[in-house]
Amino acid sequence: MTVYGIHASVFVGGWSPEETVSAVRRASAAGYDLLEVTASDLSEIDPDLLGKELRAANMQASASLGLGFDRDLNNEDPAVVQRGVDFLVQAVDLVEGLGSDYLCGCLYSTLGKYSAPATPKARANAVAGLREVARAAGERGIRLGVEVVNRYETNLFNTVGDGLRFIDDVGEDNVYVHLDTYHANIEEGDLRKPVIGAGDRLAYVHIGESHRGYLGSGTIDFATFFRALVEAGYDGPVTFESFSSAVVDPALSGNLAVWRNLWSDGDDLAQHALRFMRDGMQSARACHGAL
Ligand code: MN
Repeated sequence: MTVYGIHASVFVGGWSPEETVSAVRRASAAGYDLLEVTASDLSEIDPDLLGKELRAANMQASASLGLGFDRDLNNEDPAVVQRGVDFLVQAVDLVEGLGSDYLCGCLYSTLGKYSAPATPKARANAVAGLREVARAAGERGIRLGVEVVNRYETNLFNTVGDGLRFIDDVGEDNVYVHLDTYHANIEEGDLRKPVIGAGDRLAYVHIGESHRGYLGSGTIDFATFFRALVEAGYDGPVTFESFSSAVVDPALSGNLAVWRNLWSDGDDLAQHALRFMRDGMQSARACHGAL
């Protein structure tokens, strides 16, 4: 059975107690199995309340984040790198506190626009820094998902192939690749090859439209992507991700350039996306079975 997840930004832009309760209950009401917790600002999150709500709703969780320029593994300055490592270890603590085993996102770099290519020294720091975090996570049974994002959101790598090379260099077996259709649509030649290329090192996917709004209202070739997941025997979560100016996360919306209102009703969006993903996976399985 496929686990279907949804990013909290469909419902809330922060983690006040009211927002915490709202995100979990609305994700559950829409029929999802997993809530992806936006962990860019750890100080906001009450892990006890969030964990209690998740258990009451019988929901799984993952957590995702992007680093900032002041705490970046992809940097030549050891002090900046160390702040990044410390922040990521705190995020691992949060994941453990939520009863989750998965931390993903832009864990190796600032999520933002760099004005020059990554330097060899910054890349080496990112490899060593993520290795340190992976070892701390591994001791607690937590996996890391390295999300491959587009050129406007990191300079370190932008394709799954280069992401796999980065993970090879990190060399820890609890580090996986995380593929997002929105980013892959910008950077990859098609949506099948990166899935097949990642194979069993793919542990998580984000389903996002070309404009990050309603699934099916943009240009992404979802049929090819879902068929590739089935062909690859993918059995990880399938998580919907969408952003609109209707829900503002102060730590995230600016970095992701969320300037437009793509939708206003997160509950309707969530229900629609779950139907779309289930139908897409069902069609892909039927197609695969007919081969
Ligand atoms: Mn994503």
